[in-house]
Amino acid sequence: MEQEKNPIAITLREVNKWYGEFHVLKNLNLDVSRGERIVICGPSGSGKSTMIRCINRLEEHQKGQIIVDGIELNNDIKNIDQIRREVGMVFQHFNLFPHLTVLENCCLAPMWVRKIPRKEAEATAMEYLERVKIPHQAKKFPGQLSGGQQQRVAIARSLCMKPRIMLFDEPTSALDPEMIKEVLDTMIELAESGMTMLCVTHEMGFAKTVADRVIFMDGGEIIEMNPPDEFFNHPQHERTQLFLSQIL
Ligand code: ADP
Ligand code: MG
Repeated sequence: MEQEKNPIAITLREVNKWYGEFHVLKNLNLDVSRGERIVICGPSGSGKSTMIRCINRLEEHQKGQIIVDGIELNNDIKNIDQIRREVGMVFQHFNLFPHLTVLENCCLAPMWVRKIPRKEAEATAMEYLERVKIPHQAKKFPGQLSGGQQQRVAIARSLCMKPRIMLFDEPTSALDPEMIKEVLDTMIELAESGMTMLCVTHEMGFAKTVADRVIFMDGGEIIEMNPPDEFFNHPQHERTQLFLSQIL
């Protein structure tokens, strides 16, 4: 396949976005290689969510280029559909359908978007529920699960679409402390499997363990981007130093 040869999974070139008058993303430049794990951190309101939401077109940028898996994001609806299929996203608030069982949550998109027959969709779902270590909860409803379990279902649900890229937006921020580790462990396993990942998180332990590069954003800009060693031990910018001193 042509795309298989493309070593770059995501390119952002001079990306700019405004919410009305407010300049929320400023000249973002980034190349993410296939299989690369990137952690994005930065103060609240710095544009982290907006940036990753632009990558699967939940938000639109106004200037510059975003290319995902060789496809440029523009107004072509066909492109957007294709991107959504290849890019999985996990949010802070799991966003599971409360009236559907765990298994049904996992089968919905594969059946309706990818047109996979139910039996096959269920088999795939069980495979991923096993991978996130909750196959025995398949028949339960989300409300019957703990926050950590729900987030692992959300990860499994995304994986059922066989995405090539996974985006995470503060996946552990809404969790009680004792549940954070089980979700991070799932993410670490996913990282080890070679998935291309962009994770907005303030879990710096996770960043140190799995990130190939860490990005610091502030005021809508990428202020600093370095491998974790360099990033944590020798932060270049004052703003990065200040941020790290506050969270570490
Ligand atoms: P972060 O994820 O880093 O906390 P966001 O990307 O959510 O930051 O938000 C960046 C800035 O854009 C914030 O100042 C926020 O208030 C603003 N913002 C976010 N979404 C919208 C929106 N839909 N309309 C207007 N402003 C928004
Ligand atoms: Mg955010």
